[in-house]
Amino acid sequence: MSAVLTVALDGPAGTGKSTVSRGLARAMGLRYLNTGAMYRIVTLAVLRAGVDLADEQRVAEVADGVDLAVGYNPDEDLAFLAGEDVSQEIRGDEVTGAVSAVSAVPAVRARLVQLQRQLAAEDGGVVVEGRDIGTVVLPDADVKIFLTASAEVRARRRNAQNIANGIGDAYEAVLADVKRRDHLDSTRAVSPLRPAEDAVIVDTSDMNEAEVIAHLQQLVQQRAGVSR
Ligand code: C5P
Repeated sequence: MSAVLTVALDGPAGTGKSTVSRGLARAMGLRYLNTGAMYRIVTLAVLRAGVDLADEQRVAEVADGVDLAVGYNPDEDLAFLAGEDVSQEIRGDEVTGAVSAVSAVPAVRARLVQLQRQLAAEDGGVVVEGRDIGTVVLPDADVKIFLTASAEVRARRRNAQNIANGIGDAYEAVLADVKRRDHLDSTRAVSPLRPAEDAVIVDTSDMNEAEVIAHLQQLVQQRAGVSR
């Protein structure tokens, strides 16, 4: 085991991954690193630079020069681009629609993976949330978890969130977007979304978030031999 407890938590959108990662970090007194937020910050920088998303060279150049920062606090989930708080803006439709294309660029991934490893190694254990944490970023993580749920369940959850946030009810469109992103993320050449061989796969279709968090906490305690 490494000096700091590292938990890799991967899976597609809509599995409750973010809420569960934050809840697990909070329950166990660990730091929380949201790698999706990092890809979103780079995507915002690319959009602001007016770069054509198909122009990998230019996308890579923008990514190379990006000054980004994210918080570790599971209760805040802060994101900064050149010192500006962009925590809200990176959750908007524009960034969400472009992030898969930007995150498929190998040079973007190389830069962010290196940064993620540095941040994960800082003092204090950490829950690192993403798509390729167990497979690429932290292949030696103490515990690897891969969350799944059916596309329909994930779309229903996302749609319910949208309704609660006043964005409107559009289940079919949300389902199509969930499937589109699954496809892009799992078929890209670099770091496709898939569970690590030694990951524990947890299907959250029939569990609520509190149940998933309690289950994962038990798993981490068993696997890492810690009692927190
Ligand atoms: O987790 P979130 O939905 O915010 O991630 C946004 C996007 O960033 C994902 O759809 C995926 O394309 C990309 N991503 C990635 N690798 C990660 C985390 C996110 O490619 N480790």
